[in-house]
Amino acid sequence: MTHSLLMVRELRQYFPIRRGVFRRVVGHVRAVDGVSLFIRRGETLGLVGESGCGKTTLGRTILRLIEPTEGQIDFDGQDITRLRGRALRAARRDMQIVFQDPYASLNPRMTVRAIVEEGLKIHRLGTAAQRLEKVAQTLDEVGLDPSYMDRYPHEFSGGQRQRIGIARALALAPRLLVLDEPISALDVSIQSQIINLLTELKSRHSLTYLFISHDLSVVEYIADRVAVMYLGEIIELATSEALYRNPLHPYTRALLSAIPSIDPQRRRQRIILPGDVPSPANPPPGCRFHPRCPLAEDLCRRQAPPLVTIDDHAFACHVVQRELAQQRTAPDQRPQPGPHDDDSAAPAAKAAGRIPGAQPEERGSPPA
Ligand code: SF4
Repeated sequence: MTHSLLMVRELRQYFPIRRGVFRRVVGHVRAVDGVSLFIRRGETLGLVGESGCGKTTLGRTILRLIEPTEGQIDFDGQDITRLRGRALRAARRDMQIVFQDPYASLNPRMTVRAIVEEGLKIHRLGTAAQRLEKVAQTLDEVGLDPSYMDRYPHEFSGGQRQRIGIARALALAPRLLVLDEPISALDVSIQSQIINLLTELKSRHSLTYLFISHDLSVVEYIADRVAVMYLGEIIELATSEALYRNPLHPYTRALLSAIPSIDPQRRRQRIILPGDVPSPANPPPGCRFHPRCPLAEDLCRRQAPPLVTIDDHAFACHVVQRELAQQRTAPDQRPQPGPHDDDSAAPAAKAAGRIPGAQPEERGSPPA
């Protein structure tokens, strides 16, 4: 296995809820609750889930922009969880972030040159002339004319501002980029330009991406593996191909069923989940998805399902796990492969078809 660039173990991010005159802590919002994952060098890991599921908090905690409550973050084999001062600054140089909102994330009082140069100054990199040259080169790389570097953010369009945000992150030559919904605030026509730019930069600079998004179509296109979050937990993680072709967790199936498509072969039977996402301040006992799950049973209400991995496909669901176990112990009861079935399909994928109300369908190739 390729050595992991980032390894996260049992990461927790709890925010205290304070009430009363004395601001006593009366509870915690469990934004990230026991997340473990890794990202290989040169890989793009997609992180998806509904708003409020904790994906942005996870990205910021990984970068130590927020102090983790518990857990461990290893970057390139070094534990960076408790780093302070100069050591933390040095680690941060390798890990940069591109924010969601290109309007709010750029200081309107700073010129483009000052914005892109800021990180270089903080890390005391190069002379003034070298920094100027680096700013010009980085702007050119992201598709902006370097002669505009003395202009202010308000003089640029949304797509151009996001390019400035990418240039700011890129100037420090990081190895990991956390892309926090980098295209969701942009027009559709601009989104594909930014995605193409990110893909190009990734291969040119051998970058590793954590791509956070609620847009499942874009994640399918850009990510090598995809992690699905629900109420602060990872509930499914697999290669992009496996997850989109054969989602195992009922929540992932519901999410994928909502992707609109003009291609009839890619359309899925829509699964409407009842109710709202519960509060992360008071998550349901057992499986956190059970109040909305069409397959919930008694065990789900009492016991949280562990994240198990079968054939490189991780998922947290009692029912799917039992289905798989039954199929493995009774191979003669498995559905016989038809002439058009993919022989290489994992047993996990075969079992997925047995979940009532959510039959898997063949999906075409990713969007061009
Ligand atoms: Fe649904 Fe139970 Fe699986 Fe949770 S463990 S997703 S409630 S079937």
